[in-house]
Amino acid sequence: MKVARIMVVGAGQMGSGIAQVCAEAGYQVVLNDLKDEFVEKGLGVINKNLGRQVEKGRITEERKAEILGQITKSTSLEDAKDADLVIEAAVENMEVKTKIFADLDRIAPEHAILASNTSSLPITEIAAVTKRPEKVIGMHFMNPVPVMRLVEIIRGLATADEVYQTIEDITKSLNKVPVEVNDFPGFISNRILLPMINEAIYALYEGVATKEAIDEVMKLGMNHPMGPLTLADFIGLDTCLSIMEILHEGFGDDKYRPCPLLRKYVKAGWLGRKSGRGFYVYE
Ligand code: NAD
Repeated sequence: MKVARIMVVGAGQMGSGIAQVCAEAGYQVVLNDLKDEFVEKGLGVINKNLGRQVEKGRITEERKAEILGQITKSTSLEDAKDADLVIEAAVENMEVKTKIFADLDRIAPEHAILASNTSSLPITEIAAVTKRPEKVIGMHFMNPVPVMRLVEIIRGLATADEVYQTIEDITKSLNKVPVEVNDFPGFISNRILLPMINEAIYALYEGVATKEAIDEVMKLGMNHPMGPLTLADFIGLDTCLSIMEILHEGFGDDKYRPCPLLRKYVKAGWLGRKSGRGFYVYE
């Protein structure tokens, strides 16, 4: 199937990155969010990223303008009416996502594929609110999107083989590496990563070591590029908590219970980098 127009729903950390890599690969992109100021914020991030590429001599000013010219702004899901593919990257909340998918199913053309960038919510359950579950799929990009090569592609129970193939081809066209995964809580990436982060938070909560010491052990001892608490701040503590809750509920196993300290930080609004404070304080 030929895909030319891609709509990205949600212009936050992930949505803006997805819009950028799609525009760079030559797709026509519609970047959607609830309010114009949110779309502008996402475009601002793209502008800044591309500006850095120009400074480093990797692309020209003309190329930057060309990429930005591929992206149009939207604050209405009705703009999905011309899309061949919609990639949803709104907040990690089942109610929000199912409402968006039900609307997209009504608005998007019959041939359009509806993908979600969810970190952990079941694709099969999202697909079930549409009349086209065979065209619903998970497309899990990593943060920061322009830098990270992996896209975990999640097959829902009803996802058609040709839809999987189209998404795999598009992923390659974005210069990313697709990896196929079945639909179970947390898929592969977050089923393994988040329990490690949660355990690091327990270690801090129980006073085993300071946050700096925990991060240092994992960086120097395990050769991780950043420590788990720094990484949690980077992902967003609200997103980390949602994923742990989904693993806990999905498997019904207490080994996935979220650490009370993680809950406390989220309740305090300490969400990590994006709110200026998480385990660390950011300027
Ligand atoms: P974010 O909070 O930075 O951005 C979410 C955006 O969605 C916000 O701009 C918000 O206004 C918008 N939004 C909310 N409801 C909407 C609606 N109904 N219609 C349109 N826009 C809406 O969050 P993020 O980190 O970009 O995460 C987005 C998704 O990507 C989540 O599902 C998350 O689990 C997933 N994800 C996140 C990461 C990560 O490291 N942060 C990695 C992979 C996947």
